Amino acid sequence: MSSTTPSSTLPDWVGNVDLNQMDTLHQFYYLIRSNFSELEITTYVSLAYIFVLYGILSLPWFLIKKFKPSFLYKYKLQLKEEERLTDWNCVFQLVLNHLLLLPLLYTGYPVLKWVGVSYDMNIPPWWDMVGRSLIFLVIEDAYFYWIHRWLHTEWAYKHIHKMHHEYQTPIGYCSSYASCTEFVLLGVGSFIGPFLFGIPHIIGWWVWMTIRQIEAIDTHTGFYFPWCMSNLIPFYSGPLHHDFHHKTYNGNYASTFTWWDYLCGTDKNYREWLQKQKKKAQE
Ligand SMILES: [Zn+2]
Ligand SMILES: [Zn+2]
Repeated sequence: MSSTTPSSTLPDWVGNVDLNQMDTLHQFYYLIRSNFSELEITTYVSLAYIFVLYGILSLPWFLIKKFKPSFLYKYKLQLKEEERLTDWNCVFQLVLNHLLLLPLLYTGYPVLKWVGVSYDMNIPPWWDMVGRSLIFLVIEDAYFYWIHRWLHTEWAYKHIHKMHHEYQTPIGYCSSYASCTEFVLLGVGSFIGPFLFGIPHIIGWWVWMTIRQIEAIDTHTGFYFPWCMSNLIPFYSGPLHHDFHHKTYNGNYASTFTWWDYLCGTDKNYREWLQKQKKKAQE
């Protein structure tokens, strides 16, 4: 990074970026790119990032469940506590599932290269990475809806999906609490968008993973705050929608948006319940 470094000695991946005038993101990425190969960045660094991100996003929900602050707890959707589960059940399964990501990422590396992922210092603008991630969300949601609906058929529920529903009252950190088969099966949905539309840079992949994790944890919070994203973003499902799924075991199968359930009529019970709640509030 020294200003005296002759440009001829710089690796190809630096491209035309001026190493003396990098913003924080470029400095951070330069540090990673200097120390790891493309394969290591895709596998170990990505896994570490996803795991740390999940931990950071989950931590507030561990704390809220443990200390039950009244100013937040008044927004809890279901007050029932899970009896059979301890947090250690959840932590063990989460670690196991995340370790499964490693072979998936190894397998995904040639696919990412094939769809044109770059590892150089020319990082695309944020709007490109976020915009693509929103398209990926729409695609992942469609995949999730139909696979999740199938997971509620008798055989698939018993053998694959039952574990995720051990949390009848979900809390943020249980979003990836699922059998290994389910984790991999539903995880495939995160690769379809990038496969179809491409990702120009590995940081775009991390941006996509970040948005997907935020959404998955948000829908499992089990709290319906006035500032919920579902109150701000049209057609976003949010915690109220998915909490109903965990409470009743059927309907509301989508991960992110409400349109599939609406079009297929699988939110009929949910909408009736919402109407009843509204009437009660008016009485
Ligand atoms: Zn389910
Ligand atoms: Zn769930």
